[in-house]
Amino acid sequence: MSTRPPGGAIVCSEPGCERPALHSTVFCRFHLAESMRREGKAVLFTDPELSGIYATVVHIMRPILDGLPPDLFEPQVPSSEIDIYALLHPDAGWQLAQFSLDVLGSFLAGELGRMTLWPPTEVESTIVLRLRVAVPAPAADTFIPLLRSAMEVLLREVAGPGASASLSVTLAEDPDGSWSEVPG
Ligand SMILES: [Zn+2]
Repeated sequence: MSTRPPGGAIVCSEPGCERPALHSTVFCRFHLAESMRREGKAVLFTDPELSGIYATVVHIMRPILDGLPPDLFEPQVPSSEIDIYALLHPDAGWQLAQFSLDVLGSFLAGELGRMTLWPPTEVESTIVLRLRVAVPAPAADTFIPLLRSAMEVLLREVAGPGASASLSVTLAEDPDGSWSEVPG
C-alpha cells in the first residue's frame, strides 16, 4: 500500500487497515500484536487495544534489553531509579496512557526487578501519570533517552498526536524512598 497519512508515516501493511504503522515496523499496534501471535510469541491480553499496547511495549523494549551486556543483569549490579512523568489533558486518552505505563513498568520489572506505578492524579486540569522503574545503574544514561522515545511512541499511539502530552524521564530525586507506595 502506498498511501501515507499526514506526517508521512507509512500505513499498516495489513490489507484494509488504514492506521499508521508503528515506527520501525510495517504494522499498526493492533496488527503488530496479531503478527506476534502468528510468530508464536505470547501476547498478554485479548482485547485488541490492550494487546496492541503490550505488543508495542515488547517491540520497543525487547531489542533494547537484548542489546545490553548480560553482566548488567547480575544481582550485584547496583540499580538506578528512573521517574517517568506524563502530563496529559483530561480529554486525552489518559486511561490508556496509564495502562501503557503499567505494561511498560511490568515488562521492565519482569526483566529488571521492580517498578512503582502511581494512581493518576489531576493537578490544575492536567492528568499526571507517574511510573518509577529500576534499571542497572551503569546503563541508566542509556535507558533514559530510550524510555523517553518509547514513551513518546506510546503516548502518540494512545493519546493521539494532538493530546499535548508532556513527558519527563529523569533519574529519581528520592531513590529508594517510594517503593512502598505501590497502589493496591
Ligand atoms: Zn493495522
